[in-house]
Amino acid sequence: MQVDYLIIGQGISGTWLSYSLQKANKSFLVIDNNKPNSASRIAAGIINPVTGRRIIKTWMIDELLAYLVPAYKQLGSELGITAIEQKSLIDFHPTPQMKIAFNERVSESAEFLFQPKNQQLYYDTFNYDFGFGEVTPCYVVNLKGIIPAWRNKLLDKTQLLEEDFKTDELKNTDKGVQYKNITAEKIIFCDGISSAQSPFFKNLPFALNKGETILIESADIPSTHIFKKGMMLTSIENGLHWIGSNYLWDFTDDKPSEQFRNQTELLLNNWLKVPFKIIEHKASIRPANIERRPFVGFHPVYKNIGILNGMGTKGCSLAPFFANQLTEHIISAKEILPEADIKRFTKVLMR
Ligand SMILES: Cc1cc2nc3c(=O)[nH]c(=O)nc-3n(C[C@H](O)[C@H](O)[C@H](O)COP(=O)(O)OP(=O)(O)OC[C@H]3O[C@@H](n4cnc5c(N)ncnc54)[C@H](O)[C@@H]3O)c2cc1C
Repeated sequence: MQVDYLIIGQGISGTWLSYSLQKANKSFLVIDNNKPNSASRIAAGIINPVTGRRIIKTWMIDELLAYLVPAYKQLGSELGITAIEQKSLIDFHPTPQMKIAFNERVSESAEFLFQPKNQQLYYDTFNYDFGFGEVTPCYVVNLKGIIPAWRNKLLDKTQLLEEDFKTDELKNTDKGVQYKNITAEKIIFCDGISSAQSPFFKNLPFALNKGETILIESADIPSTHIFKKGMMLTSIENGLHWIGSNYLWDFTDDKPSEQFRNQTELLLNNWLKVPFKIIEHKASIRPANIERRPFVGFHPVYKNIGILNGMGTKGCSLAPFFANQLTEHIISAKEILPEADIKRFTKVLMR
């Protein structure tokens, strides 16, 4: 079998890269092992334009939103699903200090941040003592719809193999790559945390980060907004709500922990005034890195071997934009944004 590109991984990065290469009329084959707890299969899909205790704009958010909102809508219409929904985030101030900090930011810059007048709006559903601010627009990407729907399209066209990719069976030559009976011009790794162990990319400064999430059932929590108090709560489908997450740098496995379950149950008992039932508890590892910038581009030594990775906590906003950049780089040698291009790690990658 001969294709232009071999793509390893069909999380949100591999989905966007294969979609983007298809639009550019390139042939490809995706290999994905369908790991049930890969980051893209666990994530909520929230895109929050602000971050941190100072509630500042996230990196490149204006450019990212301008690209990703129409892109997800287009993908959704091709898949026959709603791929992205605009929602605002109700940020319950956890302390009086945080309320002051939020209000200061509102007065400095009204972009994305509002202080709604009616502070009693959610008294029926939530316990909160220090009021709330509103962040808008935020978005929720329908990962639970997109990933399987795109996968089924690829399976129908025999463009996806469901199996484990084994690096030691890859042969790299000047002309391209060979994997089993597949010949391709280039191979691009969108394999999330697996790249942190890969002989080609293990020297990139990955800083893997574990996160857990709980799914609850409750008919009484509004699905109109994302809610935040320490953790995020967002509705995913009829009466089901996603809550998460924690950020662990130090961990020994990718399994759900009793500690997170107890801590989240306690938080929900204190926060929610309405009945809820815990349905599911999952954990995964984010392909995060020290710089919090993506890894995009081709290896400085193995020119046929590329990567789209390092999405950290923001795969839903970064993957569409940088999949497009990588595609334009492949098609018309357009420069990849230097802060994302793995050229910045040439020295470490040549070791
Ligand atoms: C609890 C939690 C909550 C999160 N919430 C959000 C959120 O709300 N918004 C947001 O933007 N981001 C969120 N994230 C981060 C987001 O999940 C990641 O940034 C994103 O999913 C990374 O996507 P990816 O495609 O690069 O990697 P992955 O999702 O890890 O995909 C890699 C794919 O490669 C496959 N694979 C790996 N190795 C092999 C192999 N050897 N052979 C074959 N296949 C292989 C895997 O099965 C997988 O399908 C969250 C993460 C976690 C853990």
